[in-house]
Amino acid sequence: EEQRLRLPPWLKTTIPVGKNYAKIKAQMRELKLSTVCEEARCPNIGECWGGGEHGTQTATIMLMGDTCTRGCRFCSVKTARKPPPLDVNEPVNTATAIASWGLDYIVLTSVDRDDLPDGGSKHIAETVREIKARNSNIFVECLVPDFRGNLECVETIANCGLDVYAHNIETVEKLTPYVRDRRAHYRQTLQVLTEAKKFNPNLITKSSIMLGLGETDEEIENTLKDLREAGVDCLTLGQYMQPTNKHLKVIEYVTPEKFKHWEVRGNELGFLYTASGPLVRSSYKAGEFFITSILE
Ligand code: SF4
Ligand code: SF4
Repeated sequence: EEQRLRLPPWLKTTIPVGKNYAKIKAQMRELKLSTVCEEARCPNIGECWGGGEHGTQTATIMLMGDTCTRGCRFCSVKTARKPPPLDVNEPVNTATAIASWGLDYIVLTSVDRDDLPDGGSKHIAETVREIKARNSNIFVECLVPDFRGNLECVETIANCGLDVYAHNIETVEKLTPYVRDRRAHYRQTLQVLTEAKKFNPNLITKSSIMLGLGETDEEIENTLKDLREAGVDCLTLGQYMQPTNKHLKVIEYVTPEKFKHWEVRGNELGFLYTASGPLVRSSYKAGEFFITSILE
């Protein structure tokens, strides 16, 4: 058996919890809302739920069920060709729960639903409208699939009233066929990000890269440039962690200093913000960054 890389000290963390954390957790149970933050046992939960300097609270909710039609080799979400049908009550129920919860910034993410003619885009858009109808002050980010490049779906999301349109490129061009599902393509991702902004120039767009899969510095640099060329405003970079031993192995634990380097490069290339660190996830303190880097 191949030797597994040893976990470096900077990843041996205990989850910090702030005072808001317990409050939200209790509320969440009452609302029967399940968050990605809890389910993925995200180490950032104290910072995201607790709010940063500005007390801006962020949480992530997963829509359209727990079964994906794709099988990316870094992801532990379960896969089926034909997942159960969508819950038609989900948009209203989710929005009602979010409204009663008093958050500042919500990230809506989802599985990919290639089995549905619209990829679930109308369902996501409806959820955003229901959320905004109850609380027009909340910022909504949608982390959406590529919809197989279907621009009608991209337009549905781009004009549904969201604030931030996010779609993750995940890795560098060369590694894309090994890392992402075979239906995902590097150039297609760049294209949907470009088109989203054309449909709605007021949108903030965002993408995320995992490091530690064997990519070179030059390839990362090129990906950053490609994203800027596609008009992407915000960037996050984090360490890839192998979810189970059936998934892609970690090739490298990238040092905090190297992550800092990419943060500096991101800023030089003109991203409105670059969140870069071993534990950074695509929704990491998204509300706090939005308020401090974009609104101010
Ligand atoms: Fe996981 Fe998203 Fe890939 Fe589905 S499309 S397997 S949810 S990363
Ligand atoms: Fe939740 Fe994302 Fe923050 Fe993790 S990084 S706690 S998943 S909002």
